[in-house]
Amino acid sequence: MQNVIELNDIVKVYRRGEIEVPVLHGISLQIETGTMSAIMGSSGSGKSTLLNILGCLDRPTTGTYRLAGRDVTDCSRDQRAEIRNSLLGFCFQSFHLLPRMTAFENVMMPLDYSSSDSTSTPNYAKSRAEELLAMVGLADRMDHQPSQLSGGQQQRVAIARALVNQPTILFADEPTGALDSKTSAEILELFERLHTKVGVTVLLVTHDTKVAAHAKRTILIQDGLIAA
Ligand code: ADP
Ligand code: MG
Repeated sequence: MQNVIELNDIVKVYRRGEIEVPVLHGISLQIETGTMSAIMGSSGSGKSTLLNILGCLDRPTTGTYRLAGRDVTDCSRDQRAEIRNSLLGFCFQSFHLLPRMTAFENVMMPLDYSSSDSTSTPNYAKSRAEELLAMVGLADRMDHQPSQLSGGQQQRVAIARALVNQPTILFADEPTGALDSKTSAEILELFERLHTKVGVTVLLVTHDTKVAAHAKRTILIQDGLIAA
């Protein structure tokens, strides 16, 4: 099977004024297309730093990154934004929904920035958002604003929004970190179902072994290195 992600000897050093803070010390990693993997590790081990690089939100200090067959290591800020918009979807612990918009409007929002013609018609956007909200089990909550939804429902909206541009990879950083254990289990089942149904590659970041148990593969990060 083809690798959608190929990281080779990734090093990340943050700079705070004069001080250098090395965080990733040489990470090499391949992720197969269409799989669901979990990146695990204790707090401060470098999970979010790695995810930011994988998600083209940040660049490595050294090393190379091939994403969907393309070398993206030295892409500019604009190129990375374009890659994120066309290939990647994101979910976060705190959902990041826009508070004054309905679930439906939140899911529609990324489509406004889409450059592809077939997805810029209002009818396509509307039916796509409705289809996704139904898929995540919120067909009867489309007109609700985030404050009128539970945490689990808000995360479902965020997942639908992350899928609206048909990403190749869905990244989720501690997606159940703000949810109780029953709701967490439901959200993880949703990730598994979507992954099978829409064939998206899913990469979850978590420090929770119960969460990681849902993934096909677990990648353990310790002190900026892959331990297992
Ligand atoms: P995790 O997500 O596993 O908890 P992070 O990747 O957020 O870990 O952080 C790893 C280490 O890098 C921590 O010691 C953190 O303080 C440091 N770090 C993260 N971001 C920055 C930054 N922008 N500048 C300096 N240090 C940072
Ligand atoms: Mg983190």
